[in-house]
Amino acid sequence: MTMSKYSKRRRAIQGISIALLLSIPLRFFCFDLEQECLRVFGMDFGLATMFYPLFAIVGLLLVVIVLSMKKGRIFCSHMCPMHMFLETVNSPKNKESDSRPVKVWIWSVVLSLFLTEVILSFFQPLDHQVKMIASGHLPIIGISVALLFGFMGLFVHYQEHFCKKGCPYALIQMLLQSDNTRFMEFANPEKTCTNCRGCDDICPFNLRARFESKGTDCTNCNLCAEACTTELGEDKTLFHLIDPQPAEGAAETK
Ligand code: SF4
Ligand code: SF4
Repeated sequence: MTMSKYSKRRRAIQGISIALLLSIPLRFFCFDLEQECLRVFGMDFGLATMFYPLFAIVGLLLVVIVLSMKKGRIFCSHMCPMHMFLETVNSPKNKESDSRPVKVWIWSVVLSLFLTEVILSFFQPLDHQVKMIASGHLPIIGISVALLFGFMGLFVHYQEHFCKKGCPYALIQMLLQSDNTRFMEFANPEKTCTNCRGCDDICPFNLRARFESKGTDCTNCNLCAEACTTELGEDKTLFHLIDPQPAEGAAETK
């Protein structure tokens, strides 16, 4: 399957997101309780200056909100580890494979351990955590177990159902959605669809892409459009990302 420019950009942003998460266990971005400072990529901000990075974080959140209003569930398809997990375990190759449950478990354990460690190490370095757990420190044991099993439950059991019905970002996104928000359009004017189901098979959220891509569950990941290109040929995909322009009608962008 040919990867579009949109997907290449999306993959690059997913890589940056993983790198940002990794920076937390590596203690480049953390709250250092001993020094009482917020560390942001090597720069320490004490209690008096901590509001600078906090303002920057709030600013980034606002950027995500504004982008979500214009581009739809951009955070899901570009940054969320759950989407990356679903793209892997719900790929056409894995979806029909007998080994899917094993792969789901392996990826769930790896991601749950990673995300638990990301949250814990924002406050305590790994060696401190190990010492506290070994000495029977009940709060950290309880928090670690709750986070680990919580993430395992999401990855093993709820998967895309959590993204559609339970994720706080999805709920906020539903409120932000308007007639001006980007959507994935399916149009088959010349009846060229072969009903190959490639678009359905590749959808990480298990949507029936031709019928559900316009709804609030679609993350505008563009995978259905690429699967359709593979079936019908270059520039013949029946899916297009549309940015509605209220004044001038709809304009297509990538
Ligand atoms: S319908 Fe298409 S764009 Fe939407 S989530 Fe599924 S594969 Fe991605
Ligand atoms: S991938 Fe394209 S041709 Fe195949 S079922 Fe979907 S819309 Fe039709």
